[in-house]
Amino acid sequence: MIKKNPQEWLKVTKNGLFVVPGNFFIDPNIASDMAVVTHAHADHARSGHKKVIGTPETLEIMKVRFGEAFSQSPYGLEYGRKLTVNDVTIWLAPAGHVLGSSQIAIEHGGARVVVSGDYKRQRDPTCSPFEAVNCDVFITEATFGLPVFKHPKAQLEIKKLLNSVDLFTDRCHVVGAYALGKAQRIISLLRESGYHQAIFIHGALKKLCDLYVEKGVDLGEIITVPDSRKKTGKLDLEGQIVIAPPSAIADRWVRKFGDPVIVMASGWMRIKQRARQRNVDLPLVISDHADWDELFQTFHEVGAPEIWITHGREEAIIHQANLEGFKAKALSLIGYDEEGA
Ligand SMILES: [Zn+2]
Ligand SMILES: [Zn+2]
Repeated sequence: MIKKNPQEWLKVTKNGLFVVPGNFFIDPNIASDMAVVTHAHADHARSGHKKVIGTPETLEIMKVRFGEAFSQSPYGLEYGRKLTVNDVTIWLAPAGHVLGSSQIAIEHGGARVVVSGDYKRQRDPTCSPFEAVNCDVFITEATFGLPVFKHPKAQLEIKKLLNSVDLFTDRCHVVGAYALGKAQRIISLLRESGYHQAIFIHGALKKLCDLYVEKGVDLGEIITVPDSRKKTGKLDLEGQIVIAPPSAIADRWVRKFGDPVIVMASGWMRIKQRARQRNVDLPLVISDHADWDELFQTFHEVGAPEIWITHGREEAIIHQANLEGFKAKALSLIGYDEEGA
């Protein structure tokens, strides 16, 4: 059988990728009749889809973020279970990005396309590891698609944090980390590194941390920092670690800790200027996205002759992918920002 070229049945629209024979969008940026969602970060998962398909964990996170009424008809699809949607077969494979994150395998006309969503290859104790799925077209993200982006082992970065805590015993360390995924990963890595004291969290992280614990991720003792508006004066958290969303470390909120050491955990911390802009004292290069080497490792493992790039930095990847024998092109999808980078 001659394979039907996915180019003919996968359309790039201003609202996201549209699978014509399945009549559904992937991670659309508007409320739609039917959406398959890779993971629950805000730039991929929106509320208001009539029907939404995702892993059970992704749907639960969406419920926590958007409320019970986030979709008329949510449909949980476990990793590996096949589902026929109109004229296509889909199934989900772990992406190793955050809890519940998935790649979407789409089979139609004898061809298989895999949409990666956001993914990484470094070990993460809070979610299932990325699985390479053979395919004809691999549609990849490229948030860190430049050779300069090489993420060190996360455990080594955590060690830097713990060394600093040992050194500055009279100061509190406030770590900026994205609320979904990064925050829980940092806590989990701290536990793995033998840090067993209570870890303090900003109130905005509580619901998601609770959900991770409910799903079996061990976060140890976590304590929510009391709301600033209800408490006056400084909080005595000398020598403690506080995890907060990145917006909070640039906010008045952080001043209640006296003279804290400002820490930020993000792949962008590779760029010194970004760390300076955010007044970060201790940048930690910990990312939930693939770095340059992981991107190319993945392209080779999935064995796809064609690589399409959804969002991120495309030019360097296209150039290098062509050199390495792939046919590569940019889809330039809009509306994806960098939540969870
Ligand atoms: Zn993401
Ligand atoms: Zn993304």
